[in-house]
Amino acid sequence: MDDTKCVFCKIIAGLIPATKIYEDERTIAFLDIAPFERGHVLVVPKAHARMLTDLPEEDLQAVIRVTQNVGERLLRQLPCDGFNVFQNNGACASQTVPHVHFHVVPRHEGKPLNWTPGSYASPDEAKTIQAKLRF
Ligand code: AMP
Ligand code: ZN
Repeated sequence: MDDTKCVFCKIIAGLIPATKIYEDERTIAFLDIAPFERGHVLVVPKAHARMLTDLPEEDLQAVIRVTQNVGERLLRQLPCDGFNVFQNNGACASQTVPHVHFHVVPRHEGKPLNWTPGSYASPDEAKTIQAKLRF
């Protein structure tokens, strides 16, 4: 795929905005624009790869370590009681952005998740969560 057409490659290149919470040479993490739950984060390797099976070892290691660190931030700083990590591969598996990403979704005791896209009340609400989670 032409990386310039990929929405996550555009975020990585700084061509479109994202509510970033972490960035290093191999990985970026930002708030999902249509969160299943407040604080839903996407952890994305900077290398463009469509599926998990396409991702080089070094990028896989980097992205899973950042996913663990994001979980840590959510538990301590959001805070939340637990979190789900999931990752979709292929349109048949509900992958809509063809660039590998891990979803990290905060969970709260006694609060079921709808597993449907939501939204933030305002840009300020997203910025408040960003400030709590950023590392
Ligand atoms: P998937 O269905 O696993 O491919 O998930 C793609 C996710 O990317 C969805 O949860 C979208 O809400 C999210 N998404 C798409 N475009 C953006 C964007 N520009 N900024 C943040 N999240 C996005
Ligand atoms: Zn891409």
